[in-house]
Amino acid sequence: MHKNFKNIDRLVYGNGSFNQLGNIIEPVRKENNNFFVFVVDKYFEGKELAERIPNRTEDILLFIDVDKKEPTTELIDELRDSILASKGLPSGIVGIGGGSIMDIAKASALMFTNEGSSVLYQGLNLIKKPGIYHLGVPTISGTGAECSMTAVLSGPEKKLGLKCDWTIFNQVILDPELPSTVPTDKWFYTGMDCYIHCVESASGQYYNPYSKAYGDQALSLCREVFVGENAGRSKENDEKLMIASLFGGLSLTYAEVGACHAFSYGLSVVKGMRHGYANCVAFNHLEDFYGDAVNEFREMLKIHNITLPQNLSAEWTDEEIMEMSQIAYNLTHMWNHAIGDDWKEKWTRDDIANYYRKM
Ligand code: NAD
Ligand code: ZN
Repeated sequence: MHKNFKNIDRLVYGNGSFNQLGNIIEPVRKENNNFFVFVVDKYFEGKELAERIPNRTEDILLFIDVDKKEPTTELIDELRDSILASKGLPSGIVGIGGGSIMDIAKASALMFTNEGSSVLYQGLNLIKKPGIYHLGVPTISGTGAECSMTAVLSGPEKKLGLKCDWTIFNQVILDPELPSTVPTDKWFYTGMDCYIHCVESASGQYYNPYSKAYGDQALSLCREVFVGENAGRSKENDEKLMIASLFGGLSLTYAEVGACHAFSYGLSVVKGMRHGYANCVAFNHLEDFYGDAVNEFREMLKIHNITLPQNLSAEWTDEEIMEMSQIAYNLTHMWNHAIGDDWKEKWTRDDIANYYRKM
């Protein structure tokens, strides 16, 4: 069976396109109880961008701190319950922020119309009804969460997405002016998420001309941004990285992530590491999987003065390492892609643990 992939309904790209947000949502305001919810990264509270959000008195504007932890099922359930109790069903929800806020907007949109806890829906095609209108405005580039069919949530038992066609945004606004304020370390780690998506997509059995077409473009844009002669922070590079992020995400829809993301999930769940950072920590030790790309990655680290911690595993207990290894091992679809359908004959929890011990 081939994937019957649903795309973002509408997309606008360009400097200043954020100003079109008010006009874009205007026709949707007649839906449901005639109000919008805006979930915005706390960083923007009191900043110029917050002044430009087209919220009206009837709307709900929430600034959410994504630094304490990645989005949880608990957060989504509370947000949904309190809004339904106070004002009923919104016309739509707008997320303005990074991957974390994209996931909060996508997951909430679905949970407004699906009863019970979001824990019940972590997995593929478990959602029963379409959600409400949802629109994403990324403010940092790399995750591809703007185009993916998953809203990743950490629950009491697992970190797993609500994954279905209805998760995909109805509208995305890509305004490359918005990431200009991202601190350089976060710019690098989230940008590397995109680079690693492309490398992983290209290094496994599901790779195909569709994934290659998007992945090659995304990789070449990443190289211009991170290693080319004009590498570094600039307006032009923000424009490129925003498209690289989208194309990296599209490359994955017809392939898969691989070993690095499996290791990264273990690090995030057990050690609370942020997604992009965890990817970098893992990728640095994966020459066996990704060869020269790891050398290129190290060159990028050097160019941008990013120092990754060494010998982290010295602080980890054996129990923690085995827990991470189990989490990574359970990500069957990633190992299928990276190693092949017979991966269980070639690759064990102990092999995974040995890689964690190198980190
Ligand atoms: P993030 O959303 O967690 O934000 C990272 C940091 O950047 C935060 O401190 C935030 O406040 C700051 N920030 C964002 N925009 C800014 C701006 N313009 N100026 C200044 N600071 C800004 O980071 P992320 O790396 O984009 O997303 C990571 C999350 O995305 C993880 O929770 C991960 O699980 C999820 N993810 C989801 C998908 C998907 O397909 N749904 C894919 C990859 C990752
Ligand atoms: Zn990723």
